[in-house]
Amino acid sequence: MCRVLPNSRPARTLERLGAFLIVCGSLMAAPPPRVVAAEPTKQPNILFIFSDDHAYQAISAYNDPRKLIETPNIDRIATEGMRFDRCVVPNSICGPSRATVLTGKYSHANGFYNNSGSRFDGSQTTVAKLLKGAGYQTAVVGKWHLVSDPTGFDYWHILPGQGVYYNPPMIDNGTRVKHEGYTTDIITDLTIDWLKKRDKSKPFLMMSQHKAPHREWAPALRHLGHDNDRNYPAPATLFDDYAGRGKAEHDQDMTIAKTMTAKDLKFEAPPQLTPDQRQAWDAYYAPRNQAFEKADLKGDDLVRWKYNRYMHDYLACIKAVDESVGRLLKYLEDEGLAENTIVVYAADQGFYLGEHGWFDKRWIFEESLRTPFMVRWPGVTKPGSVNTDLVSNLDFAETFLEAAGQPVPAEMQGKSLVSVLKGRTPEDWRKSFYYHYYEYPGPHNVRRHYGVVTDRYKLVRFYGPDVDEWELFDLKEDPQELRSVHGQAGYTEIQKELEQELARLRKELNVTEQDPPESVIRPATPKAAAKKQAR
Ligand code: CA
Repeated sequence: MCRVLPNSRPARTLERLGAFLIVCGSLMAAPPPRVVAAEPTKQPNILFIFSDDHAYQAISAYNDPRKLIETPNIDRIATEGMRFDRCVVPNSICGPSRATVLTGKYSHANGFYNNSGSRFDGSQTTVAKLLKGAGYQTAVVGKWHLVSDPTGFDYWHILPGQGVYYNPPMIDNGTRVKHEGYTTDIITDLTIDWLKKRDKSKPFLMMSQHKAPHREWAPALRHLGHDNDRNYPAPATLFDDYAGRGKAEHDQDMTIAKTMTAKDLKFEAPPQLTPDQRQAWDAYYAPRNQAFEKADLKGDDLVRWKYNRYMHDYLACIKAVDESVGRLLKYLEDEGLAENTIVVYAADQGFYLGEHGWFDKRWIFEESLRTPFMVRWPGVTKPGSVNTDLVSNLDFAETFLEAAGQPVPAEMQGKSLVSVLKGRTPEDWRKSFYYHYYEYPGPHNVRRHYGVVTDRYKLVRFYGPDVDEWELFDLKEDPQELRSVHGQAGYTEIQKELEQELARLRKELNVTEQDPPESVIRPATPKAAAKKQAR
């Protein structure tokens, strides 16, 4: 029986390559290609620059009204390519997001649910393995955070666990090594070193993955004082009292006011600093900490001081990431690689920069649901374009595969963005997205929840042994998500529609009615316990 290729993705790719279709179990010449080869026929290189917890509010290309920072190098990827304004994640936390990028699957399908016990099953299909099989040289450098060793990479040089900011131990293809310097710079050095020595006859996939700007937001010493003691504008919701929302928002433990530690606030220095580095650290922090002690701040003033310290440190970390992006773009240009390299910048999820009084991530709410995402693909993506479609990091693997002329496995749950990157979003593009967070009990005490997101609404269920609450948000009327309108007059119809859509998505994605047992979601191994300690 003749087999029709499952969808248009591989067919389009084959047209582009002028290749042959395999049908009826034997090789047959395809009909003449219908598309004139106006596009590059060479498989593009893919440089995937990935940071950890980088909020879109802290990238100047996203035009946050607070104007927190200038990121000229990251912005170049947007101005020379496409900026995505609603790239959402299926589960807003580090490890699960990374597992999604590699597999194109939700947490329940790739088995990596949370940072408190999950271990990535490296035997499953990943974009790295598929591209390697298609002739790519594959590499990952920097933060990995999936517990098991990387598979599918010709070269891997990763931070163990969460990693540290200064003089980091790393694992070079299985061998433990020690580096001196600032981790963001080292990851970029290693990325460039590998690019220099790679097999130049092959296209490459390089995943250059930063620890920064993850907690505890420790800057490069050259960036201490980068903001000249700026007084940062606070978000409108810094003193949110969570009225109009339920138990989950009231019970969380992720506020700037109450949750930040002495390490977060730089009253303790990282133990990895050398004596010289420690001197530079103290030269910046010690006098400011003394002034703080003397001021004896209380209440809202104390929260504002903490917010300001947080912004200094967090944004300083991003300055080093931005410099790294600049170095990588320059390398591509110097080597004549820029034209045939897709450059992606993304983070593993969004982050709160004081909105709702919070830092951290986890929630279905916008700041953590959305992640920055921009792509430069010369000759394919129109420079300076902005996309507002509902896209996801669930789509990255599929996109890289199609860009490389490879079929997308049917088991992957996202969609290739190649058409979108060409400025031609398919008419049947998704209008809703399923979200599911599992790490409870866990750090920051954010309840398990799942929900459906559209361009305007969010319907969410918080659940667990002592909570079962629904909330509904109308982003048009309430863009800061301060008031659930679940069960309220005027929302009956849309609530019903969203309930149906949520049920449809759960069925389509094979989400089980009940969560899998704890032994699956959070296997209680000594290694998991150690990892939890280190996270
Ligand atoms: Ca993260």
